Amino acid sequence: MIQIKTPQEIELMRASGLVTAGAHAAMRAALRPGITTGELDAIAEDHIRSQGAVPNFLGYHGFTGTICTSINDEVVHGIPNPDRVLAEGDNVSIDCGAILEGWHSDAAVTLTVGEPSPEDAALLDVTERSMWAGLARALAGGRLTDISHAVEESIRASGHPYGIVDHYGGHGIGTEMHQDPHVLNYGRPGRGPKLVPGLVLAIEPMVTVGDPATVELEDGWTVVTKDGSRAAHFEHTVAITPEGPWVLTAEDGGVAGLAPFGVTPRT
Ligand code: MG
Ligand code: MG
Repeated sequence: MIQIKTPQEIELMRASGLVTAGAHAAMRAALRPGITTGELDAIAEDHIRSQGAVPNFLGYHGFTGTICTSINDEVVHGIPNPDRVLAEGDNVSIDCGAILEGWHSDAAVTLTVGEPSPEDAALLDVTERSMWAGLARALAGGRLTDISHAVEESIRASGHPYGIVDHYGGHGIGTEMHQDPHVLNYGRPGRGPKLVPGLVLAIEPMVTVGDPATVELEDGWTVVTKDGSRAAHFEHTVAITPEGPWVLTAEDGGVAGLAPFGVTPRT
């Protein structure tokens, strides 16, 4: 069932989104060679709780972290660990979310520790841009797969032969972290549920340098590429409003990210 939020509920989701944005900002500021994923996890949890919110990943089907940290060939759902030290040149996907007054938010970013290689810079850039291409299609009057199609087209248009992970995707979000509908990161436009004001979605492309096939490790969580190639993952939570997309987990509501697509968000 798709949950349609009232304007007042979307305001509450924005407050939740800003908590998640703040956690990401704190982690980004702390990221350096030598930090552990366990330390990043503690930074996120401290920030979320300091805002009167609670982490939504912690305890989710038994997950032990506030964040997911997925390094290099790990795609998503990596478990933070006080013994996992990040080194110069590692790519780390940090996925984080919060619940504030019952409302969930969910956002992810992939960052390079230190200076990225040209190959890593391209992978991260293409993946992030594809997320913004999808967010720019979170427009009332459209259809769900307009977003999916925009994500795929953006990746294909890069000219890189990247893989698009097809086993995982975006989702509705609201009073639960994962709601209908599932949002594919590829496909033909003009299909699926209508995009209406009050629909809130997490858009999250996962892109690989090589083949997009993935396997889950024996820890029951960490998803890695089968061929060992590097992956990137970006995510924002977006509300469809009569005034345009509102990127709830971006500090600026999506102003900077949507500008290249000629889209002005509600802010
Ligand atoms: Mg997420
Ligand atoms: Mg998500």
